[in-house]
Amino acid sequence: MKAAVLYAYNEDMVIEDVSIAEPKDREVLVRILATGVCHSDLSAAKGKSRPRLPIILGHEASGIVERTGSAVSKVRKGDHVILSWAPNCGECFYCHKKLPTMCDTYGNAAGGGTLWDGTRRLASAEKPVNHFTCVSSFAEYAVVPETGCAKIADDIPFEVAALVGCAVTTGFGAVVNDARSEPGDVVGVIGVGGVGINAIHAAALAGAEAVVAIDINSEKEGVARSFGATHFLNSRTQDVVAEIKAINRGRGADRFIDCTGRPEAIALAYEGIRPGGAVISVGIAGKGEMVALPASTLPNTQKRIIGSNYGGGVPERDFERILGLYRVGKFDLDRQVGKRVGLDQINDAFRWLEQGVLARTLICFDN
Ligand SMILES: [Zn+2]
Ligand SMILES: [Zn+2]
Repeated sequence: MKAAVLYAYNEDMVIEDVSIAEPKDREVLVRILATGVCHSDLSAAKGKSRPRLPIILGHEASGIVERTGSAVSKVRKGDHVILSWAPNCGECFYCHKKLPTMCDTYGNAAGGGTLWDGTRRLASAEKPVNHFTCVSSFAEYAVVPETGCAKIADDIPFEVAALVGCAVTTGFGAVVNDARSEPGDVVGVIGVGGVGINAIHAAALAGAEAVVAIDINSEKEGVARSFGATHFLNSRTQDVVAEIKAINRGRGADRFIDCTGRPEAIALAYEGIRPGGAVISVGIAGKGEMVALPASTLPNTQKRIIGSNYGGGVPERDFERILGLYRVGKFDLDRQVGKRVGLDQINDAFRWLEQGVLARTLICFDN
C-alpha cells in the first residue's frame, strides 16, 4: 500500500510502498477513505512529542472495514467506521475507573509505536515501521484494535466522520463532559482553531448566555461568530480579563476552555474565571513548560483546573451523540471540511496547518 512515512523530525514525509500484515484475532484491517491533518500530527513531525521513528502518522480518520481478525465481533467487512485514537481494553485499572481515554494497554502501545500486543503490522523494505496512536492513517490501509473502530451509518460523509475522530470530539467533549457547561453560563474559549470552533459550537448548543472567543488573530472573528460565539476578543490588543468580567456582571466567566496549550493562556483563563469556575485545559503545551498561578487564591476562590483528553468522556459514545446532532442540523460539521487533497500533497497540508489555515485539510483516498 501507499503510505507517508516520517523518517526524521522536521523533514518531509516520504510517500512510498509499505507492507501491512494481516489483522490478528481482535484487530481490523480498514481501508482509509479520509484523514484529517491535526496539530498532534504536526507536533509529532516536529519532534515535540518525540514518537519513535520511522512512523506513519495520522490519527483522525474514517474508512471501510476490509477484513477482520478471527475473534472480532464488533464490526464486519463493509462497515463504515470512525477510527478512535484512544482504543481501550476494558480490563485495566483506568478502564475499570471509567476513564477509557487513560487506558494503560493503549498507553503502552502508543508509547512504543506498536499495537496492543507490542508488535507492528507495518514495514518498509522489510524494516518495521511504527504505529501512531494505534491508527497510522496517512496510508491506504490501517490495522487497528477492534475497539478502535466505531461503526457509523453509511450516509455520513467520510470527511465529516474523520473530523469527528479527533478535533470535533475533543472540543465538544471538553465543554459537555469536562466543563459541564450549563444553560446561562458565560464561556470563554481561547484559540479559534480546529478544536476551538467545536468548543464554541458546543457551548452555544449547551445554552450559554455568552460564548466569548479569544484569539491573537482578529481574522478569526467571523468564523468564531458563525459557530456560535457572541463576542470576540483579541488577546494581543484587548484586556481579556476586564472585558470578560464586564460581560458577566463583574464576575468573570463561569467556564474557560483553553485550546492553545500556551502557559500564558492557561494563566489568563484562571484569572478570567469567577470563583468556583473552572478552566478546562485542552491544548497541549510543549514538554517542560510550566504555568504560574497565584497559589494563595486556589483555596479561597475554589477555582478548578481540569485536564481534558479526547473530550474527557467515552469517545465512541460521543461520536454517536455528535453525529446525531449533525443529522438533525444542530451541529455543523460540513463547514469544517476544508481542502481535499491526495496523499501526495501531505507535506503541503502540514505546511498549511502550520500557517494557520483554519478549515481542516483532509487527505482523501477516493481520487
Ligand atoms: Zn488530533
Ligand atoms: Zn484499559
